[in-house]
Amino acid sequence: ASTTVTVRRATDAPPLISAADLPPAGHFVDGTFPDGSPGRVIDVVDPCTEGVIARIPEGTAEDIDRAVAAAARAKGPWGRLVPKDRSEVLHAIADRLAENTDLLVRLESANTGKPLAVSKDDVAMTVDTFRFMAGAVRAATSMAAGDYVEDHLSVILREPLGVIGVITPWNYPLLMAAWKLAPILAAGNSLVIKPSEQTPLTTLKFAELVADLLPPGVVNVVTGYGAEAGARLAEHPDVDMIALTGSVPSGRAVARAAADSLKRVHLELGGKAPVLIFPDADLAAAASALREAGFWNSGQECGAACRVLVHESVAEEFVGHLVGEVRALVVGDPRSGEEVEVGPMVSKAHFDRVTGYVERAKSEGARAATGGEALDGPGYFIAPTVLVDLPEGAEATHQEIFGPVVTVETFAEEDEAVRRANEVPLGLSASVWTENARRSHDVAARLDSGTVWVNSHLVLAAEVPWGGFKGSGYGRDLSLYALDDYSRTKHVMHHHGR
Ligand code: NAD
Repeated sequence: ASTTVTVRRATDAPPLISAADLPPAGHFVDGTFPDGSPGRVIDVVDPCTEGVIARIPEGTAEDIDRAVAAAARAKGPWGRLVPKDRSEVLHAIADRLAENTDLLVRLESANTGKPLAVSKDDVAMTVDTFRFMAGAVRAATSMAAGDYVEDHLSVILREPLGVIGVITPWNYPLLMAAWKLAPILAAGNSLVIKPSEQTPLTTLKFAELVADLLPPGVVNVVTGYGAEAGARLAEHPDVDMIALTGSVPSGRAVARAAADSLKRVHLELGGKAPVLIFPDADLAAAASALREAGFWNSGQECGAACRVLVHESVAEEFVGHLVGEVRALVVGDPRSGEEVEVGPMVSKAHFDRVTGYVERAKSEGARAATGGEALDGPGYFIAPTVLVDLPEGAEATHQEIFGPVVTVETFAEEDEAVRRANEVPLGLSASVWTENARRSHDVAARLDSGTVWVNSHLVLAAEVPWGGFKGSGYGRDLSLYALDDYSRTKHVMHHHGR
């Protein structure tokens, strides 16, 4: 039983961006965008209209090499600044981004099709991430000093690593860049970032906006495909660490490419968050929270609450609540207003991927309690979907779909719920819904997930670490842990006896 969902269009509304809002279409290297022909280009597409909104250069290995050389020249002076001076630059970046919130929101929504509410949240958290790291680096810098061997004073220093390569995905282009760049810069490193070939506009705009605040070469942006530009960055012998947010296959490729130079690797990969709902949970509150946490960013969210395991005694009641919430979601083009909650998939290829999962689930016996259908174009819209009656082990319950699709399965026992939650090879995040504190502590302790929410889902702050277990990767974004990830620890021991 699928529902007909109306896509709010804005055929007569003006575009979100004008030509003057676009960043320069070139690589940002050594503090400038070059003049002249960009060579081969990649089309950047608005996923609501399917129209080309910009063309950006297809970066080559040589472009990466030039950017790495610029970063290598810049790292020493930047790394030697005292934390207060770097901190002031990060605060200035935060101020500059905050002043340009409206432009960044429009640019992000134009490139990704995201609802404006999501882009606003992204920009606000981007600004806050820079502010947090600006403060954190001053608080975290002095490490332990003391005599641990008689007459020997140990001083433990935090040092920058050097040049860091950053590769980002299309789902949160600006925010994922900020989660890497803020701690990398705070810790005193220089960097080269390669944004997703599909969504490079806000990263280039970031470079344009902050170019005068940073010494040349500290931040460099090279656009292009993963297989060429990304792969060169991961293998480059003068890059000291590579940080990727992306899919599991890209994580494997990056880790392999990094192996020869033995550079550090930081991977934030996919998720398939289990949502464990026990009979004593507030079912209406859980359903209402999942309206946001399951469909935020149109479900293109690595922590999305996408895999419900609900106790069989309350499953029918919970699905009733959830279907009511999901049917009320407003689907549309961000230009049609602030109320839009769900936009299109980012690309035709991704739309095909998500609809393929839904079709195969149906052929495995699943039923769409609501949604389950692609919506008419233009634009890559899919109806918000709740799949039920899935056979245990169904593909849709184990693979990351990364679209507006929540699966609901039932369980009978607590141990069974934990076992099934953990049987997926990803372990980024999970949530537990219960009013029983013994149960929430116990289940949280047994879940193989980097983040576990209790009676909540998808809530984050710059102070808390974000990152996965198992196939979801290693390393942490946000928090003091990220600052540690992008630093190296040196011990200096002074013999002061006579
Ligand atoms: P993707 O892996 O296709 O692309 C990510 C980036 O990696 C892009 O810039 C791409 O060009 C680059 N890339 C691809 N192949 C590469 C290679 N061989 N060498 C170097 N770089 C390469 O991922 P995507 O489709 O852009 O993003 C969706 C994925 O990102 C999902 O799996 C999602 O779960 C994950 N994600 C994770 C988090 C997190 O915090 N864990 C956050 C957002 C997205």
